[in-house]
Amino acid sequence: AQDKRESLYIVSNYAAKFFADKMWNSEEGKTIGLSYFKERGFRDDIIKKFELGYSPDDWSALLDSAVKEGYQQEFLEQVGLVIKNDQGRVYDRFRGRVMFPIHNFTGRVIGFGGRTLKTDKSSPKYVNSPESDIYHKSNVLYGLFQAKKAIRDFDNCYLVEGYADVLSVQQAGVENVVASSGTSLTTEQIKLIGRFTKSVTILYDGDTAGIKASLRGLDMILEEGLDVKVVLFPDGHDPDSYIQKFGAAAFKSHINSHQKDFIFYKTEILLQDANNDPIKKAGVIRDVVESIAKIPDAIKASIFVRECSSILQMEERILIAELNKIRLSNS
Ligand code: ATP
Ligand code: MN
Ligand code: MN
Ligand code: MN
Repeated sequence: AQDKRESLYIVSNYAAKFFADKMWNSEEGKTIGLSYFKERGFRDDIIKKFELGYSPDDWSALLDSAVKEGYQQEFLEQVGLVIKNDQGRVYDRFRGRVMFPIHNFTGRVIGFGGRTLKTDKSSPKYVNSPESDIYHKSNVLYGLFQAKKAIRDFDNCYLVEGYADVLSVQQAGVENVVASSGTSLTTEQIKLIGRFTKSVTILYDGDTAGIKASLRGLDMILEEGLDVKVVLFPDGHDPDSYIQKFGAAAFKSHINSHQKDFIFYKTEILLQDANNDPIKKAGVIRDVVESIAKIPDAIKASIFVRECSSILQMEERILIAELNKIRLSNS
């Protein structure tokens, strides 16, 4: 089984090299793939650091090349780089897309994300590798290999939604950044971050989906005993679009001045909807206390109760009573 996994790593590595070679050295790759990344503002050093590439717009460019080089079709199928349909026809999964190799945290290629270059909605924006013996997407964080040293050094991890966000944030000089690409945040991913730091800052997209995901994510992070802060981006921006529009310096000052402790963030978001309605406000209090109840460390939880009491102007003992009630019903 170890031998087989090794073969899957090897064929995935070959594919990454193939896609990169096509992007840097073929006419199609240069004019379509490389210029796409350049137009998005990505520098050569970042494109190389993440081993980005381009899959030719052809049914079997990778398959043909790999087989010619002596790689077995079987292994290409097993990592989902090629697909065999019901009629037995075999073809490349990724065609005419810019390619983001996904590395495990030791740096081996285990899968791919491929972005369409079409602006219409005829095909999904991103296609990702399927699960395989070497790629379990719920256990993987995009960019962790490139970020892990900085995460340790700064004792903090920025968490973004997408591939492009990781690239832009790295390009802005902030290297402790990962994405939960292709899946919503999982407990396994949080545990993986926990091996490098106990402090996470969520930088999700400033749209409804991103805000919803951030509220879900922060509860999960608290449950794993990590500290969590959140930065909201204005006008639907994600970290990538913010950096490309306003620049690296503005981005850094935005995340420093707008990062909020989870309790302020969650309270603020929920109070906006409550609109001073006392019944809704009671719901907000309960909701925020529910997050506090997820914190395993009792001392930390009590500090947050105090903060919460001052933000919501609600007596501490009422919050504690509520906290105990939730803890009891959760146990
Ligand atoms: P871009 O900036 O390239 O347009 P994005 O990363 O901002 O892309 P979002 O729509 O915000 O795109 O999605 C966030 C992440 O979710 C993507 O980077 C990708 O990992 C994943 N994703 C988005 N659309 C799909 C899809 N159709 N199938 C699978 N994963 C997807
Ligand atoms: Mn989004
Ligand atoms: Mn986005
Ligand atoms: Mn984006």
